[in-house]
Parts: sequence; structure tokens; C-alpha cells
Amino acid sequence: MSKKIGLFWLKDDFRVIKNYALAEATNNHDQVVVFYLYKKDLFENQIAQKWWVSRSLEEFKKKLDEFNISLEIIKVNSYQVFFEELLKKDNFSIYWNKTYEPKYLNFDELLSKKLTSKNIEFKICKGNALNEHNEVKKSDSTPFKVFTPFWRTAEKLYLEKVPTKNRSILKRKKKITFFKNILNEKKILPDKKWYIKFEKFWQPSEEKALLELKNFIKSRIENYSDARNFPSIIGTSKLSPFIKHGQIHVETIWEECNKIKKKGVSKFLTEIGWREFNHSLINNFPHMLKGNYSKKFDKFPWEKNQRLLLAWKKGLTGYPIVDAGMRELYSIGWMHNRVRMIVGSFLVKHLLINWKEGEKHFKNCLLDYNEANNVSGWQWVAGCGADAAPYFRIFNPILQGEKFDKEGEYVKKWVPELKNVPKKFIHRPWELKDEKIIKIGKDYPKPIVIHEKARERALKAFQII
Ligand SMILES: Cc1cc2nc3c(=O)[nH]c(=O)nc-3n(C[C@H](O)[C@H](O)[C@H](O)COP(=O)(O)OP(=O)(O)OC[C@H]3O[C@@H](n4cnc5c(N)ncnc54)[C@H](O)[C@@H]3O)c2cc1C
Repeated sequence: MSKKIGLFWLKDDFRVIKNYALAEATNNHDQVVVFYLYKKDLFENQIAQKWWVSRSLEEFKKKLDEFNISLEIIKVNSYQVFFEELLKKDNFSIYWNKTYEPKYLNFDELLSKKLTSKNIEFKICKGNALNEHNEVKKSDSTPFKVFTPFWRTAEKLYLEKVPTKNRSILKRKKKITFFKNILNEKKILPDKKWYIKFEKFWQPSEEKALLELKNFIKSRIENYSDARNFPSIIGTSKLSPFIKHGQIHVETIWEECNKIKKKGVSKFLTEIGWREFNHSLINNFPHMLKGNYSKKFDKFPWEKNQRLLLAWKKGLTGYPIVDAGMRELYSIGWMHNRVRMIVGSFLVKHLLINWKEGEKHFKNCLLDYNEANNVSGWQWVAGCGADAAPYFRIFNPILQGEKFDKEGEYVKKWVPELKNVPKKFIHRPWELKDEKIIKIGKDYPKPIVIHEKARERALKAFQII
């Protein structure tokens, strides 16, 4: 046991199960302090996430109390300046888990060098992934650009691996404090009261994540392959915000799923695989975080139209399935995957607005926002990503609605103005010429673009590629 204090740098790891770095700290030190660095500018355009982080800190603090470990939140302007100050002390060792984003991995390298030069003990552990981001490679050692062979290789590699040593978090005898000027987690909440609505839908704790996983495996995984396409039913796991913030480790998901032999397991784990693939992509091809993965899209003539962009953001496009999705996003900080694809395609192809605008809006509103999945998801939709949808595939919002929300239940839930519109017209309400039921242009907007014309325009514009 080291006499020094063990510090654990908490990022997206709000869990005690499979928190490798925290386990190391408690196994090596009698006295352990967990610290979280609140860097305000990191959340400037990620407002919804402030709520999740604030609530996660609150819950995790309670959890760590049971282990006699304090969680201290420190407001910083830059990680670098904070660590320069910290490194003036020498009474600690430090531990953290990897976050698989280039900005964090680059910082890990920088910090490692400084810690080594000061002779301070540290350990960086595996983060929330099955494989490390740079482990899955083609036989010629280059990174994969296509999902299917990536996942085949990734699964095999993971199965062959000796499992990471799963040490438990140990309860410490005495709780101590380490830092001065500690911030209360409530100070992280966004200024706007928008987040109040989230309280009804989400409970950001590790217990809740495990419960959600168990319920999903027990009653929904069997039908996952089909049910995942229908936004009016809860057919998916809804685990994404918990995974993003590390309330659950994907290894736990893998293990729990593989304990049972049910239909749906393999499809579900393939989706976890997409997350791994996206992390591999952004680390191997970091240029895609700033622009198009595929450079030939750099010359694409995107349109700038604030009026249309705002109609899209507010869910006032006149296309019910698009509007339902955008309003679901704003209301609960989450949107169904099928609908993410539909609203994305609508923005990029029907409105010809740069995918980056959509990426920015999602970043601000999603509780599950993560750099890898969001940037890759948007570039998949636009057709400019690795292994993306072909650019000439244009989702028809009317037919998508009729196929995946046949009864119009999803639309009626999020777009209550349409609640009396008969099923036949629910995805094309402008064709219903009955003003007693709905006045198009007054109760609900006229379509902001005509589908057929927008489709033709997009196909023409995309010829440049
Ligand atoms: C334009 C666009 C933007 C997106 N932005 C994000 C984002 O910021 N954060 C995010 O986590 N996902 C994003 N996705 C992927 C996907 O929509 C969500 O992960 C999924 O809807 C989350 O719901 P769930 O947990 O019920 O998923 P489930 O179907 O239960 O899947 C389980 C888990 O697998 C992962 N996963 C599922 N689908 C995908 C996918 N297509 N790509 C990558 N990982 C996936 C997620 O971690 C998810 O929680 C985006 C998709 C699109 C089309």
C-alpha cells in the first residue's frame, strides 16, 4: 500500500463496476480522492449534457460515499494549467481511464511525459470499449474503413483476449479531501430550464443503467432486430446516454448478453460494434472531426438558409415524421435511430444544408452525444463518411413514416396538432382537405419543400461528387 494519496481523474466513467483505474487507485492507496474537472467551454455547445453530467455527479457522489471516497469538482479553464499546478505537489499518484477521442488521447500523452519527468506515479487504464481503438487492424496493419470486416475481426479479437483483470473498488477506512475551492454539481446545470423535462424520463445512475440492461435482455432483445425500426414502441435499449457517460461498461453489456442464447443478441451487439467502429474511425482518420471524411465532398455547394434550418430545428417542416423526431429530441434529449436517419437525410438532401449544422444541433441537444457516433452518424447520412449510405439514397419522409409509423402513433405523440388526422393522411396531412380537422398553414405548417422537387434538386446537386 502506498502512503501517498491515490487520485482518480473522473471523466466519462460514472460507475464502480469495471472502472479499472478507480479499482487500481483503491487497491494501491489507503486514501483515495476522485476529482472531476469542469471545463466550461467543453459544454458551451453541449447544453443538454450539462444536465446529465450534473445529475451523474450527484448520484456518483452518493455512491462513492459508501466507499469513503470523496468526489471533488474543480472548475478549470484549461486541463494543462490545472495539471501544471497539481504537479507542483508530490504527495499523490494518479489514475484515469482512457477516453477514445483524439483530444483526450493526445492529452494523455502530454500528461504522461510530464508525470514521468516529475517521477510521479500514474496509470492510464482501458476505457469504455471492448477493444482498444488502435487494436483492430487489417492483415496489412492498416485501419478498417468498412464496418463488416471490422466487426468480424473485432469480435474475434475480443473473444480471444484474456479478460482485463476485474479488480473491485475497495472501501477505504477514512474519507479525506484534497482540493480547495470545490464546486457544487448544481452549478453545472444549464441556465435554461429546458432540462426540467429530462427529469421525468431519465435517471443517470449506474443502478438504473444495469436495470435498463436487465429489462431489455429479459423482455425486448428477442424482438430487437425488427422492433428497433419502429419509433412508436420501445424496441431498443435506450442505453446510449448511460454508455456515453460510462454508467455502464460495454464489456458488462457484452457479458450479460452472452449469458443467454436469445435471438437478437448478435444484432444488438453489432450495434455496439458500430460504436467501436466509429471510435476507430475518428482516431485513425481524425480529419473527419473537422470536415468530410471523403474529400470529394469538400466542393459540394451547400445552401445557407436560416429560415429552413430553424424550421427543421423546431420541428416545423410540415413533414410529420421529421417534426416528431425533432420535437422528441428537444423534449427528452434523445431521438430514435430510424428517425435520426430520416431527419438527417431531410436536412442534408431535401434542404441541402451542410451536415455540420445538424451535427452541431444534435451535439447541443443529445444526452448521448459523443463525438465518434455523432460525426460518423451525420457523415453516414450525408454519404461523405467511411462506409456511408450512398449519396443518391434519399429517404422519402412520407413513405418512411407510412412504413415505420403506420398508425401514426409516434407522430401523434410528439406533434399533437395532428391528433385528429385520420391514419390515411397522417404522413401527408396537406392532402386532407378538411379544415374542420386541420388547417394546413395555420394549425400545422405547409411542407417547407415539395418532396419530389427537393429530391430532383438533390440528385442534380450531388452529380458534382
Ligand atoms: C445522424 C445520427 C447521429 C447520431 N448521433 C449519436 C450520438 O451522438 N451518440 C450516440 O450514442 N449515437 C448516435 N447515433 C447512433 C444511434 O442513433 C444511437 O446510438 C441510438 O439511437 C441510441 O439508442 P439506443 O441506446 O436505444 O440504441 P440501441 O439500438 O439499443 O443500441 C445499443 C447501443 O449501441 C450503440 N449504437 C446503436 N446504434 C448505433 C449506430 N448507428 N452507430 C453507433 N453506435 C450505435 C449505442 O451506444 C447504443 O446505445 C447517431 C445516429 C445518427 C443517424
